[in-house]
Amino acid sequence: MDLLEKLGILADAAKYDVSCSSSGGTRNNNKGVGNSFAAGICHTWADDGRCVSLLKILLSNECIYDCVYCVNRASNDIPRASFTADEIIDLTMNFYRRNYIEGLFLSSAVLKNPSHTMELMLEIVRRLRNEQAFFGYIHLKAIPGADQRLIHEAGMYVDRMSVNIELPSDKGLEVLAPQKPVKALLKPMQQISQGIAEHKEHPAFKRGGSGTNSAGLFTPSVQSDSSSFPESLPDADFSRRELAGRNSGKYFVPAGQSTQLIVGATPDRDLSILKLSEALYGKFSLKRVYYSAYVPTLSDPRLPAIIKPPLLREHRLYQADWLLRFYGFEADELLSKTNPDFDPQLDPKAFWALRNLHLFPLEVNKAEYEMLLRVPGIGVKSAQRIVAARRVNKLNFDNLKKMGIVLKRAGHFITCQGKTYESFSQNEHIVKEALTSAKLLPQGKKAVPGQMSLFSTLNETGLGENMSDLYLFSSPENTKEWLSYYTQPQDGRLLLSDIHL
Ligand code: SF4
Repeated sequence: MDLLEKLGILADAAKYDVSCSSSGGTRNNNKGVGNSFAAGICHTWADDGRCVSLLKILLSNECIYDCVYCVNRASNDIPRASFTADEIIDLTMNFYRRNYIEGLFLSSAVLKNPSHTMELMLEIVRRLRNEQAFFGYIHLKAIPGADQRLIHEAGMYVDRMSVNIELPSDKGLEVLAPQKPVKALLKPMQQISQGIAEHKEHPAFKRGGSGTNSAGLFTPSVQSDSSSFPESLPDADFSRRELAGRNSGKYFVPAGQSTQLIVGATPDRDLSILKLSEALYGKFSLKRVYYSAYVPTLSDPRLPAIIKPPLLREHRLYQADWLLRFYGFEADELLSKTNPDFDPQLDPKAFWALRNLHLFPLEVNKAEYEMLLRVPGIGVKSAQRIVAARRVNKLNFDNLKKMGIVLKRAGHFITCQGKTYESFSQNEHIVKEALTSAKLLPQGKKAVPGQMSLFSTLNETGLGENMSDLYLFSSPENTKEWLSYYTQPQDGRLLLSDIHL
């Protein structure tokens, strides 16, 4: 099999993994090529548009496991391929030099066994750094069940590591991925989390140290020593000194670790998924949890009988995740046993506000910053602007408009100097009606209730007379309270539009 054929198979096989944001890297260039800090928009070999900044490939899709939801599962009859280390190194360097990519996202199926796979992946990242002096961003998947030493050493060379939990409950894993018990998934996450925390505390990390020696190789300015390996992990019985003196990088996974949860492959409710994310952020200080709408590619009685990926649900979970991390919300506030799923028509903050109308309206000139953040239509920047501006003058609605606050949303939840906004109402139905996505669609366009489709036709969505396709754009990094969508007119242009939520 030639290299191009392998690339086709192994790039395609990687497209279902969305946990590949390149944010957070700080590795600066020092006599080498590439720069993870400056990584931004690049190219991708996946065609689903999710990850465009990295060469995103699998080392192998020859998996010994048989996870029911996965196209690479052992029992699925598909073309199989595995790269050699040389091939991946050559591809990465050649694509980088041609300006096709800014970095590498390397994952793999379990080839032979977890440690064998991890060893091959370690060889690739070590040689990229040391032989090729590649300073670009590298995101590496840790293979659950692999020897901890391999995972730890790999962490010294890469920017980000991730372990995909995939299914958000023990039960889901039992049914759909019986060879991946939850403990095996959590163990490397714990190891990586502890490694990150300990290296951050290391004096050499704080000093910055040097990244290369005179030969341009990575220098061990932070070594794995007896104080830096997770003591509490059951298998940490090898000599930690073994790692000392190796030519490892100065950082351990400096861009943090992430994971991915598949949404819609199991009956798990939004509440369970969000609580799991909350626990992962708390326990393992994850940088990101990525949500991936389950793409029904296989038929199996153990899988849900859906025909379209639940993209709007995925989008709501991203919004809720944002509220957990930056708005001070807890999962139990956003959802409950009686309301275990988000309303597809409402963003999660509006969903919460509607169930807590008794807390509103807030007087913007007096409300606590933390409460302002909870007002639909007021984001972090707007809340900061309000707090700064009201120190000087009492604010009115015109002032708020000039600050960019979306009054058609916020107006239902605030007062200015005791006055309510023109459309103010505390009737739940009226407020809900005003906040639903349907009300916020472009004028004259109607929305069809239900799950928004990845490739809806014009007639289903009613979003535009000349549009052939609609692509929901669910950006994990989206800080704004809106839903973005691509539309593609017949002439082939791709237009980006927003629905303010
Ligand atoms: S281990 Fe990974 S690649 Fe293998 S079947 Fe399971 S999800 Fe797919």
